[in-house]
Amino acid sequence: MTSKSTEQSRKKLSKITKALFNRNVHMQQCPMCDESEFSVNTAPIYNLSKSETPIGNEYKKCVPSALITCENCGLMLQYSLEVLEIDLDEEESQ
Ligand SMILES: [Zn+2]
Repeated sequence: MTSKSTEQSRKKLSKITKALFNRNVHMQQCPMCDESEFSVNTAPIYNLSKSETPIGNEYKKCVPSALITCENCGLMLQYSLEVLEIDLDEEESQ
């Protein structure tokens, strides 16, 4: 039996690999250890490039991103979901 969180993680990983593939990024192996097991999580990061005032909408200070972790060596790659134009928490509509 597949746990729900594992299935969600797999869906997220598939979504991001598709988006990266469309931009000529082929995520097949870890660049450090050559293994091919990854997990993905959403991770909002502080947006230091935009000059939003700290008072006001907290969300605007953060950039939604996907954190891809190699399950073997722990290398973490972070991608901006705004640039990739995807929402990992949104259910697939196809
Ligand atoms: Zn690795």
